[in-house]
Amino acid sequence: MTGPEATSPEQPSSSSLRSLLALYRRVLGLLAPEKRLAWLLVAGNLLVVGAQFAEPILFGRVIDTLTGAATGDSQIWVRLSSLIAAWVVFGLLTIVFGTLVALHSDRLAHRQRQAQVAHFFEHVIELPLAYHSTTHSGRLMKIMLQGTDSLWGLWVAFFRDHLSTYLSLIVLLPLSLYLNWRLALLLIALCVVFSILTAITVAKTEKLQSSVESRYSDVAERASDTLGNIALVQSFTRVDTEVSDLKRLVERLLAAQIPVLSWWAVAAMLSRAATTFTILSIIAVGTWLHLRGLATVGEIVAFMSFATMVIHRLEQAVGFTHRILLEAPRLRDFFAVLDTNPAVADRPGAVDPGRMIGEVVFDDVGFSYDGKRIAAEHLSFTVKPGETIALVGPTGAGKSTALGLLHRAFDPQQGAIRIDGRDIRDIKLAALRGNIGVVFQESLLFNRSIADNLRVGKANATDAEMRDAARRAQALDFIEATPGGFDANVGERGRSLSGGERQRLSIARALLKNPPILILDEATSAMDAATEAKVQAALNEVVIGRTTFVIAHRLATIRNADRVMMFDHGRIIESGTFDELIEKGGRFAELARAQFLAPALAPTGEAVAQDY
Ligand code: ADP
Repeated sequence: MTGPEATSPEQPSSSSLRSLLALYRRVLGLLAPEKRLAWLLVAGNLLVVGAQFAEPILFGRVIDTLTGAATGDSQIWVRLSSLIAAWVVFGLLTIVFGTLVALHSDRLAHRQRQAQVAHFFEHVIELPLAYHSTTHSGRLMKIMLQGTDSLWGLWVAFFRDHLSTYLSLIVLLPLSLYLNWRLALLLIALCVVFSILTAITVAKTEKLQSSVESRYSDVAERASDTLGNIALVQSFTRVDTEVSDLKRLVERLLAAQIPVLSWWAVAAMLSRAATTFTILSIIAVGTWLHLRGLATVGEIVAFMSFATMVIHRLEQAVGFTHRILLEAPRLRDFFAVLDTNPAVADRPGAVDPGRMIGEVVFDDVGFSYDGKRIAAEHLSFTVKPGETIALVGPTGAGKSTALGLLHRAFDPQQGAIRIDGRDIRDIKLAALRGNIGVVFQESLLFNRSIADNLRVGKANATDAEMRDAARRAQALDFIEATPGGFDANVGERGRSLSGGERQRLSIARALLKNPPILILDEATSAMDAATEAKVQAALNEVVIGRTTFVIAHRLATIRNADRVMMFDHGRIIESGTFDELIEKGGRFAELARAQFLAPALAPTGEAVAQDY
């Protein structure tokens, strides 16, 4: 993962706590779209907390009233009734506001979780392909689901518990000083002990927990990789191996988790011991003070209630810290993905030119993936609207890179690419890509119906349009022969279709999109003659009236192209029509002879294409 490493163990505990706090602030900051509601909930919480403090104070007053009353004193009811009425009011306030806060914070957290899932998803699918080729989709799924779960949990806990806990502590401690400063010192000492214990445990376990999380991701990645290749696993009878590999990963996960749990168990034990000691001390000191007339029984009872509340809140605060620590690596992974910038973004002032004509100019374009090795160099050419250009050359020559630059998978470091005279960096990315259709070598299909896959080309395509596109792409026959027709599901990555069928579907999809510029990455794998002929017929149909770039492997395409550009080491080394290049007797002629013309020097391209 590209995520930032967790704080290193050498760093002092305060910095671990600081980084947790920063993370917590970012989590809460995500609620900004519903800022007003969030502040209202904070205010509601304040009221609930305030009302809660009244109880122990009223309790102490009731005790003092009772202990101060003589037997048969009928006035006691009058004095008690105002205390009881106040108690009822505060009780009702707590219930009503408590319920409202819980209800609305739950709804807010659910809404924002869905919003974050959508935001994360959108961000991830805009990240460059290079990112996806190094980050497994299983890992990304895990980061998305667990990250948004963590966010949701922390938001709910913030409004329900965290806020009231910290507010309570802020109010309770000064209030206890006011009630009886001698007893209050004991409580303050307890707070200090809890804070120190927590800081130590956080420092000790933060790094450990982040390694637990990365083990979790390993498990998710592995399981998803196995499930995605289930046919391979079964045909090579690898079920046992895959299961035992996964078990080994789970064992490593557990081995990483156990030390974290042990640290927190020790911390919990020490906190409990400190609590018991504090309660016993309050009883002892309280008795001593009472004997000297420095505290009434009511004061001591009220203080005990206070102490119990403070201790409860302190334990909660430690619990939250533990929880945030557990969630931190997930959240860091989540934010690390969100902080990864797409390689290209809209420039300020970028325009949407609508449907373009399709004149493409490469003006001395240069590009390198890593800043060292050249992937494209001095690419200069002009393509008139409607022309078909075949890109040929050995693997790694820079053909895909050149076309990646055209639809801005990345931007050139040198030179410029213009469509209809406009630098493509001045065009809105969505508008640019709306004008360029791509038929991938491996036909990418969703695990949805044929119709849904076709509508990727045009979301609002009518049934008639879909039928027409399918017919022109030579796909209608097999779609109609499939049970379910257009509603039939194509399986994961289109597994229930043959390679040729998948390709014709993706050509139909491009026909529906109807872009002025088309990029075709021809399949290299051999097809039987009948399939090949159908795919070629579909391709001949789709290129009509569009500026087309083909990474060509078939002779038919190269023959029919208006121009062939021969790539090598990121440069165009030869350019011209098929016949011109053959006549020239250069590298292309050599390649063509070796690759395409070997079986027979047939008089027409079509005949040779069938032999390929
Ligand atoms: P072709 O399409 O002609 O096979 P490419 O454009 O894919 O060639 O590759 C051109 C050069 O760029 C090669 O040296 C290749 O290794 C390198 N390359 C391609 N894609 C990447 C990538 N995503 N990251 C780094 N280098 C890459």
